[in-house]
Formats: sequence, structure tokens, C-alpha cells
Amino acid sequence: MTQDIIIIGGGIVGLATALHIKQTSPSLKVLVIEKEEKIAKHQTGNNSGVIHSGLYYKPGSLKATNCINGYHKMIAFCEEYAIPYELCGKIVVATSEEEVGLMNNLLERGKQNGLEGMKVLKQEELAEYEPHVSGVAGIHVPQTGIVDYIKVSEKYAELIEQAGGEILLGTKVSDISSIGATSTVVTSNGTHDGKLVINCAGLYSDKIARLTQEKLNVKIIPFRGEYFKLTKEKEYLVKDLIYPVPDPNFPFLGVHFTRMARGGVEAGPNAVLAFQREGYKKSDINITELAETLTWPGFQKVAMKYWKTGMGEMYRSFSKAAFTKALQKLIPEIQESDLTTGGAGVRAQACDRNGGLIDDFMILEDDRTINVLNAPSPAATSSLSIGETVGNMALSRLDN
Ligand SMILES: Cc1cc2nc3c(=O)[nH]c(=O)nc-3n(C[C@H](O)[C@H](O)[C@H](O)COP(=O)(O)OP(=O)(O)OC[C@H]3O[C@@H](n4cnc5c(N)ncnc54)[C@H](O)[C@@H]3O)c2cc1C
Repeated sequence: MTQDIIIIGGGIVGLATALHIKQTSPSLKVLVIEKEEKIAKHQTGNNSGVIHSGLYYKPGSLKATNCINGYHKMIAFCEEYAIPYELCGKIVVATSEEEVGLMNNLLERGKQNGLEGMKVLKQEELAEYEPHVSGVAGIHVPQTGIVDYIKVSEKYAELIEQAGGEILLGTKVSDISSIGATSTVVTSNGTHDGKLVINCAGLYSDKIARLTQEKLNVKIIPFRGEYFKLTKEKEYLVKDLIYPVPDPNFPFLGVHFTRMARGGVEAGPNAVLAFQREGYKKSDINITELAETLTWPGFQKVAMKYWKTGMGEMYRSFSKAAFTKALQKLIPEIQESDLTTGGAGVRAQACDRNGGLIDDFMILEDDRTINVLNAPSPAATSSLSIGETVGNMALSRLDN
């Protein structure tokens, strides 16, 4: 059977794309191929579970538009299918006078992105929201929420199958070839023919893209984010979500506290180079993948430029005392003994040949495929919007 659309990757982006296509054109044959035995095992299943409001992103960027659009869709979806979520709000805390300027820039950005109800907090007002936090000023963002993105993805998968779409688990894609208008996707369980292939392979999205585009200019660099958890007795130190003011040069750095939809409070993550694309432990190493990272000219440029920041993150990875010190900037009374080792997630960060870390979402099309090549945070929040965007790109190609 020839599929109309084959989607590689059963993370939240691939599933949202399949769902949009099936809901828009129910008669199309859609197949999702996932290498793991369950969906959402990688970035989607190991994230912080935050429904982002759209505060941080450059106005007009794909991140800003898809986050804001996706935010509303996510809330409506959770309401419709009774998926537990909570709009608990968050505070962003400036811990020094120098950070207040950056915090005010963030506030402006939030306004430009259409956020309403944000409140600037004076030092003495911080405690009304988070009694144990320390800082010189802050912003309260009421829209931010929490949800379990595994539950969301499971519902997407259920709806895809109900609509007649197929999800093949435990099936790894190794090649794509094409004859005429048909692409053949070669997998560990045989081949599948399709009119169009959509690549949503997350940490391996560049590898899949290279199967059809030899001269791809980006490589995925895997950055592991490690978390600690607050012990049960110390969970009272965090009411909801507490974030630092991000460094504009490294918006994804900076440890924060997150009350999780699944229960518990996470502290972290840091960001260290993972020696394997799906390397969740410090000891996970894949020599081939590591060599590919280290020899990528773009990575070498990033390493030369930001080695100091990288070393700091590495140090915090190995030293719980240093990690605790970073957390104490936000909550001074936190002690090492209040933290137990938590999980880890690996971010797929696209890096170009010139050492540019791609900030925005990146979708590249070629004759045979649509490749989602950079879908970092807030892609879970934005998933229904990205799914709509990518799905519509695919539908317009099938129409022609
Ligand atoms: C530590 C961390 C915290 C985050 N926090 C948040 C947050 O709070 N809020 C938010 O909105 N976003 C957050 N994000 C970002 C968000 O989780 C990701 O952007 C999103 O999950 C990306 O989804 P995806 O479907 O593109 O990738 P993935 O979930 O990684 O899915 C890709 C899938 O492709 C499959 N695959 C790969 N290669 C093949 C192959 N050859 N054959 C078949 N299948 C293949 C993989 O097995 C995987 O299941 C966070 C991310 C991380 C890592």
C-alpha cells in the first residue's frame, strides 16, 4: 500500500503533524514510524512540562508565533480531552541590579508578543508569590502552566489511530530512496512507500535529512540537561515555577524550579554536551556520534567561543555543591541535602557550519521531504501549531 504521507518520529511534533493532517483530510493515508517501542520516549518524554506563555521569543519569529498560537490550542485541547493541566503562573526573578535591565527588556518582549496581565514585582512583593525566593525584582507571568506532555502525546496518538492513521512502533528508519513520485522509506521492519515524507526525528532529524540532502548545512548537537529533585520535605520551598532572567546569549541556560504536573519539584536543568545523541547518563558514550560532533566545524567554533560557559556547566554537572550554589541564587536556604538526583533530557540543538546555534524553529523542504530540523523548547507547547504549519505545507504539496 502506498501511503500519502509518511512521518518519521513519534514525538510530540510528528504526532501533532499527523493529527492535523488526519483531521483536515481524513481520507489521506498517514503512517507514523517510530523507532522506540513507545511514543514520546525522547525530548517529549523528558522535558520540564511547562506550557510556555511566549514571553521570551523574538516577536515575529516562528517560536513566538507558534508558541502563542500553540499555547491557546494546547489549553483548548487539554480542556476538550480532560487532560490535567494547571495555569499556575510563574515568576522571573532578577537577582542583581544588572539583571533588572534585562528583565525589563523581557517584559517589553512579552508585551510585544501580546501577553497580558504581567506584573512587575518589587523586591518586597516577590514573597507574595514565592515566600522563599530571593531577588531584587521580578515579573509575574500569570499565563504559564504545567502539563504532562506524555499524556498529551498519548491522546494525539489515540486520535490519529481513531481517525484511521497508523503508528508503527519499534521501527527504525535507515534510508529513503525514490523513484518517480514515490519515496521508499527503508526501515528495520521492511520498506514503506509514500508520496511525501515528513522528518520529525528530533535528535536524529539531521541524519534523516541527510538521506535526501547531501549538502545539509546543519548538525544536531545534543545537549543533556540534568535535573535534581527537591526532597518531599522541602517541596514547600517552591510554590509554582521560579525562573532566572535568561542571558540573551544563552537563553536556554539558567537553572529554574518547576513544580511538575506529575508531582514533585524539579530543579535544573544545566546544559552539557552529551557524548551520545540519546545519552541520558554521564557514562553514555557513542564514539561515532561524539566524533561527528567534535569534527563539525560549527561545533568547533561554538566550543572556541563559549568554552568558559561550557566548562561552568560541566563543573555543575559533576559538583552537586556547585549546582546547589547556582540554585541558591534564587532560593538561598536550599542545601545540598534537600536535593536528590532527578532525571535528564537531551535537547536537539541545530548548529550550522559557521558556529551559529539556530535559535528559531527551522523547517526545510526538498523535493521529497519536509524536514523539521530545529524544534527545541517551546516546541511541546507549540506542537499543535507546528503540526498545523507542517501539515499544511504537506497538504498543499499533495494538492499540486
Ligand atoms: C530538558 C528539556 C526540557 C524541555 N522543557 C520544555 C518545556 O517545559 N516546555 C516545552 O514546550 N518544551 C520543552 N522542551 C522542548 C520539547 O520537549 C521539545 O522541543 C519537543 O519535545 C520536540 O519534540 P519532537 O517530536 O521534535 O522530538 P522528540 O520528542 O525527540 O521525538 C523525535 C522522535 O523521533 C524518533 N526517531 C529518531 N530517529 C528515528 C529513526 N531513524 N526512525 C524512527 N524514529 C526515529 C525518536 O525515537 C523520537 O521519539 C524541553 C526539552 C528538553 C530536552
